[in-house]
Amino acid sequence: MKQDQHHLSKVLNARETRFQLRNTFAKSGFDSLSLTLNIPGYPKSNELLSNLFTQILDDLLIYLQANRIIIENKKEILRADEAGDFYLVQLKKNTQTNLQKIKQLTENFEEKHKLSRLIDVDIFNKDGVSISSGKEKPCYFCSEFSAISCMRNKWHSYTEISDKIFKETSLFLNERSKEKLIHNLCNFAQRALLYEISISNKPGLVCFEEPGVHTDMNFFTFLNSTSALTPYFKEFCELGYMYQEELNKVLPKIREIGLRAEKTMFLATNQANTHKGIIFLFGISLFSITKILSKNGTFSDSEFQKTVKKIGKDLVKNELQHLNGSKTHGEKVYHKYGKEGAGIRLEIETGLSTIFQTSLPYFSDQLKPDTYKDQTKLQEVLLQGLLLIMTINNDTNILYRSDLDTLNHIKELANRSLSNKSGYNQLYEFCKTNNLSPGGSADLLAVSLLLHFIKTEYNEF
Ligand SMILES: [Zn+2]
Repeated sequence: MKQDQHHLSKVLNARETRFQLRNTFAKSGFDSLSLTLNIPGYPKSNELLSNLFTQILDDLLIYLQANRIIIENKKEILRADEAGDFYLVQLKKNTQTNLQKIKQLTENFEEKHKLSRLIDVDIFNKDGVSISSGKEKPCYFCSEFSAISCMRNKWHSYTEISDKIFKETSLFLNERSKEKLIHNLCNFAQRALLYEISISNKPGLVCFEEPGVHTDMNFFTFLNSTSALTPYFKEFCELGYMYQEELNKVLPKIREIGLRAEKTMFLATNQANTHKGIIFLFGISLFSITKILSKNGTFSDSEFQKTVKKIGKDLVKNELQHLNGSKTHGEKVYHKYGKEGAGIRLEIETGLSTIFQTSLPYFSDQLKPDTYKDQTKLQEVLLQGLLLIMTINNDTNILYRSDLDTLNHIKELANRSLSNKSGYNQLYEFCKTNNLSPGGSADLLAVSLLLHFIKTEYNEF
């Protein structure tokens, strides 16, 4: 009891400070707007509640701006004390502010918000008087009576109310961080594909200037395909967020989304195979990244490789070895060349080891914030990343249309290209003459970019 009185006097002091702050604004002739959380009992602020407050404040500021309620950004006060988290701001003078209308709008904001009844947005006029709409807020806990009557009559215990607040706040914040995470990952995934297709002068591959050795697709086919695939990236992430079972059982679920994505891709590209490999690689990668980030909050190479390996355990054995009279390109190449023709499945089985040996360390060294500002440099760095992958990748797109000697020759030419312009011209001409396109390496480049964006920019969004 004594403890409560102690708290109460501190809360009253804090409220007095708020009153003074509002009055200072009123005395200088300003209307003001404040945001508080309606938290019964003590403490009225802690880490969870402050996080909630920050989110709601962000929502409120956007809402005010969208509804043309202009605030004096420079006259903002933000504090957390015994009375809880508190935000106060002046409303801009000389605008035709109808305070009743603003009150009505902010009440709409409160009502539509998921945590509606915890939110109090108050409007004060130049005389320091609170604008009221006369409406009574329903009780947060029971919704049956008005908040004031339940509070005065102490119809619910603090423990009951705090438990409910804790549960709903945690749920709300989790939902928000999930949304943010998935937005970011979809942004990075789409950006990786746009970067890959925008590299000029790639050997054999589709570029803006020319379709390389391809006759059934061009630059715009890739734009169509990228746009069509973007909604599916979200699905891969959502699966990663909620999946709780063993990792070696998830592949059929990833594939289900992937097959739907593939269908959409073929529709968008007039039946051209622009991104079939990417759907598989991004499906597994986005699933894994979401799983790691939602669990640990940070990304790590080793955790990523471990997750991908678990998903792809025995993939080559299960999907390629037992097949006879096989039909798909991948299966045919595997039967002809064995492990060297195991392609994308072996990549997954080994945790995408090719990019961890080549493009990823290179990008972490060379793809810096400044690089993005210089298009010529960016083009160089991206192309170099592709070449590095080509020096070691057993690209089944090449093997399917040629043989092991040709693949080795391409690796050798890619190696020479790294430091030598004439080496690059040879590689470029060789692909053109022999009708070869390193599509598998281009796919791995896109995965490297996706991972690089996450490693370098995830926290900035
Ligand atoms: Zn109640």
